[in-house]
Amino acid sequence: MASFLLRCTRCGKQYDGGGGFRLRCDDEVSGDHGPALLRPVYERKQIQVRMELPGIFKFADWLPTGPYYIDPAPAHLGEPYCYRSTGLARRLGLENLHIAFSGYWPERKLNLVTRTFKEFEVQASIPFFLQSFLGREAPPFIIASAGNTANSYNYHTHVLGLPLYLFVPESGLGNLLLPFETHPVIVAVEGDYTDAILLADEIADRCELLRDGGVLNAGRRGGMSAVMLNAVAHPTQGTQRLFDHYFQAVGSASGAIAAWEGVQLLLGDGRFGDTVTQIHMAQNAPFAPIFKAWKEGRKDLVPVPAEEAHRQVAAVTAGVLTNRKPPFGPAGGIRDVLAESNGAAWEVSNEQLFHGARMFRSLEGIDIGPAAAVAVQALCQAVEAGRVNPSDSILLHITGGGREIQYTEGKVCRARPTLRVKPGDIASVLAAIGKPEPISAERISRILHRYDGATRH
Ligand SMILES: [Zn+2]
Repeated sequence: MASFLLRCTRCGKQYDGGGGFRLRCDDEVSGDHGPALLRPVYERKQIQVRMELPGIFKFADWLPTGPYYIDPAPAHLGEPYCYRSTGLARRLGLENLHIAFSGYWPERKLNLVTRTFKEFEVQASIPFFLQSFLGREAPPFIIASAGNTANSYNYHTHVLGLPLYLFVPESGLGNLLLPFETHPVIVAVEGDYTDAILLADEIADRCELLRDGGVLNAGRRGGMSAVMLNAVAHPTQGTQRLFDHYFQAVGSASGAIAAWEGVQLLLGDGRFGDTVTQIHMAQNAPFAPIFKAWKEGRKDLVPVPAEEAHRQVAAVTAGVLTNRKPPFGPAGGIRDVLAESNGAAWEVSNEQLFHGARMFRSLEGIDIGPAAAVAVQALCQAVEAGRVNPSDSILLHITGGGREIQYTEGKVCRARPTLRVKPGDIASVLAAIGKPEPISAERISRILHRYDGATRH
């Protein structure tokens, strides 16, 4: 049976993965040790890619979803995609560049409705969460996001018929677009991403709802690690070898941490070589707290006064990368991943970012979002600096692409905010949402499908 444990990256204590919704080690909660991520440990050491399962559940052996998967058919679940680059590779003089493309690209039969890998995050986090409530009611999802995670939760909860409460900074509302109408409760916060997170935390406390924990959520990270698993282990798209380097743009860096967790699993498998993939994280200057803390050799983020942080956040083009509290210092977090992988952090200016987007479009034939362009430019910098060699195998993760095609192709529906509030305006939110609607036990049992071995039922 596909069971799993959650292992504390600081003290090594292990918890039954199916034994209740857990984000932290007991010893962290009691103050016996500092902050740490819990990392899933799976029964199966060698992955069997299950091509018969939908979406990322092809990698179910290494997802913290136990024996469960979701299938909202006839709606579909998006899948990771990886291909070998020719255009960009030639321009940069790279012999072995692969691109993991998480977006919308019909020409290549790529159909991520929400156009980013946050779709994989949500596919896994829904069963990760709901499996803890089998046989009883579960609280509804309450999500704070700069837009892409919100849009992905909106898509998946809509097709599964689940209630959803979204907290989104006003600047992220433009990302809440789907090809059909949806009706989640949306609180638009007149502040930045961090303000949205803080307000969602407060409301969850008052209404006794569970926050999904963001980067602390092993389900979310597990879903995103499918990008790395696909690029290496997929029977046709995968290289069957671990990469020398992985490049991604980061805000909370949960995707880059997830990629590293995927690397650990692939190393443990034994069939994909023993290359320790160097993880490269890129941010959009002037708001680049991860880059700054890493460059200065800090144990944790350099504190930035709120006003200064707001000013910097407002000055970046890739708004989804502006998490003010990414997990830099916690065990298993950003600093550990960069150090253990011998990785690097990069910062990319707005000007460079536009250049990267244009270059990618002309060489690879698809429009990409500003965050993805940050990753492209970080790779360019690494090539120029001699940080990567022409013969190195490189995985460049482009998450967020195909917006222009999707928007010009068919219907686009914008999710409307239920209310707009100032940061910290708890009273207005409570007055508007009333008593949040729980998810019934019956609903949960209908959503969670079981698989056993390779059998679907
Ligand atoms: Zn611990």
